[in-house]
Amino acid sequence: MKPTVALAAMLALGTFVLAGANAAEPRPKDFQRVVDAAYAKYKGLQEGKNADYIPILTRTPSELFGVVIATRDGKIYSAGDVDYKFSIQSVSKPFTAALVMTQQGPKVLDEKIGVEPTGLPFNSRLALEIYKDKRSVNPLVNAGAIAAVSLVQATSEQDRWNKILQNISDFAGSPVPLTVLEDVYESEYSTAFGNRAIANLLYNYERLYSDPEEAMRVYTRQCSIGVSAKDLAIMGATLANLGVNPLTKKRVMNANDVPELLAIMATAGFYDESGEWMYTAGLPAKTGVGGGIVAVVPGRFAIAAFSPRLNEAGNSVRSLNAIRDIAGELGVGVFGPNPN
Ligand code: GLN
Repeated sequence: MKPTVALAAMLALGTFVLAGANAAEPRPKDFQRVVDAAYAKYKGLQEGKNADYIPILTRTPSELFGVVIATRDGKIYSAGDVDYKFSIQSVSKPFTAALVMTQQGPKVLDEKIGVEPTGLPFNSRLALEIYKDKRSVNPLVNAGAIAAVSLVQATSEQDRWNKILQNISDFAGSPVPLTVLEDVYESEYSTAFGNRAIANLLYNYERLYSDPEEAMRVYTRQCSIGVSAKDLAIMGATLANLGVNPLTKKRVMNANDVPELLAIMATAGFYDESGEWMYTAGLPAKTGVGGGIVAVVPGRFAIAAFSPRLNEAGNSVRSLNAIRDIAGELGVGVFGPNPN
């Protein structure tokens, strides 16, 4: 490239990045308009199917659908089934990783779990054999999330659980601790042979930091916590608000740890679809097989959605489409407006 062309390109990019940084916050009616539009557009979408490897998830009514934006000052814009309580599943993972960062500092995630995207399904055993150095690979796949549970500093299993539940409840701004959906817990724990294999393999490689079955019980309970799409949006808004819950004003994690956590969500939040997601939506996010997804517009707001039907990678089809549309409409992708 000729120097003048390079300079022009750099100037254009600089202007573009500055414009993004100074972009006015959307007005309330714009937030509500994009939420309503995404809800209306995808409400009829029938693609995908409920998770069935956790038997009880087949019974969640497939037509449920809710879309929410929560801002860093606690304003909520919503459409559809935004108060229905479903199991949080893997959307819990970044929040327990945050607890580990708060207790032991951000380096521990890198050293004791890992921060590489796997490019493999969320429950991959193969990943543990390929990534011989870190084994668990990152805290947003099952192996890394079970390792994160085992890393939480606690005096007993009950204490480990209490800390995890309290932390997720604090992120959600729930005045009382959130409740476990016991039937989901029973259904998953009694069929979790794959996750049990992962926990035992990690323990074998000295990459699990508590008794494996204890980690399994607490991890499965964590995944069974009942949340609504609204709860997820507030959890995301707490990350957007640099660790302070917008409703309760409680500091839930260190502001300094938020960028690292969002980086892991950007590279691994959609499992083996994370590249595609960043390419088309441009936002750090986390999905769960219960049908929930939360995406964070750093420093500004969060977009959450819930609908049970999943694609092959285990990501909710309606939710991901709704959030991607909203990100595109508002032009808030972290690398610049995404013209989808
Ligand atoms: N509890 C689920 C599991 O361990 C979570 C997976 C997910 O949401 N992707 O398989």
